Amino acid sequence: MGTDERKSGTNTRLAHIGNDPGDFFGFVNPPVVHASTVLFPDAETMATRNQKYTYGTRGTPTTEALCQAIDELEGSAGTIAVPSGLAAVCVPLLAFLSAGDHVLIVDSVYYPTRNFAERMLRRLGVEVEYYDPHVGARITDLMKPNTKVVFTESPGSNTFEMQDIPAIAEAAHGGGAIVMMDNTWATPVFFRPLDHGVDLSINAATKYPAGHSDLLLGTVSANEACWKQLHDTFIALGVCPAPDDVYQVLRGLRSMGVRLARHQESAFAIARWLEGRQEVAQVLHPGLESHPGHAIWKRDFSGASGVFSFVLAKGGKREAHAFLDALKIFGLGYSWGGFESLAVHVSLEDRTIAKGSYPGPVIRLQIGLEDVEDLQADLETGFEGLRAL
Ligand SMILES: *Cc1c(COP(=O)(O)O)cnc(C)c1O
Repeated sequence: MGTDERKSGTNTRLAHIGNDPGDFFGFVNPPVVHASTVLFPDAETMATRNQKYTYGTRGTPTTEALCQAIDELEGSAGTIAVPSGLAAVCVPLLAFLSAGDHVLIVDSVYYPTRNFAERMLRRLGVEVEYYDPHVGARITDLMKPNTKVVFTESPGSNTFEMQDIPAIAEAAHGGGAIVMMDNTWATPVFFRPLDHGVDLSINAATKYPAGHSDLLLGTVSANEACWKQLHDTFIALGVCPAPDDVYQVLRGLRSMGVRLARHQESAFAIARWLEGRQEVAQVLHPGLESHPGHAIWKRDFSGASGVFSFVLAKGGKREAHAFLDALKIFGLGYSWGGFESLAVHVSLEDRTIAKGSYPGPVIRLQIGLEDVEDLQADLETGFEGLRAL
């Protein structure tokens, strides 16, 4: 990662980062290396492990190509690739927390992250506390002498609260804690966490990097100070991803900028259209001027991806289900970042602080690569389903 890495435009970099074709006979793409054993030329080399690759769990030319590409995007000292986005959340938490430590986790966090904290971190003797996503520099008041990690996610899952990451990072560092950020929504194309004071950037590559709803993968990128501890833990746990999935994510990166531009444009168009609908109380998209976190989004982010929520003006589960069941193009399913549009009725039952006060059910949309007019017509059908109740 040189200082001139940002000289080229995003799409130029996405097309060329990672592997060097010259390293493998000029083939544009790197080989997909299926490996456990790596042979050594002699006993001395084996005893000292004095060669670049030593065993499949420790990395291959395929994982190296992806991790180098992500390092260039993130501006990080090192990146690990793990078998899912959720593993990319859990491994750094395990790497930096011990019994007796205190962790602060944003209350609008991705639910499986909370589940890991509740089921695993508490059992291992870690004190877990949730905080308001709008806390900003006031996180200082929540810091304890044993606070080791502040975990952030911005915008928040499902409700899209924006966090003031630079203010939180400064306060956390002042209190001796490191900062992790789940940056899956923005990807390093629209926000580079390490440039804003974050120590470890987490990405569910399952989403936009992979882009086709056909695999699971996660990455964690660390700054210089945190890289060794992260990498040592990764090696200790043996959570290495499968080579075909790693390759597919590298392949996905090549078109990610173009796909994100389309997701962004279509999502903005649909979000603005929804804002004008009488059935809709509020649209939760940080790129909209009406969003309470819009100023932070504008200051820190260079774009928005294709996932946002809207709040129905009234009703509950029955109304949400009537709307969803009427949809034909939007699929009902979890995850996002693929080529196809999805909708889900969001549950906020796990929240203790960031509950919001919404007059009706919250529906999350992932805007895919379909034509906007067709998606709009499908949502219109959803509203008809609502009226037919
Ligand atoms: C999907 C998601 C993850 C987990 O990714 P998986 O690959 O599905 O395990 C983590 N964080 C956020 C914010 C996500 O949306």
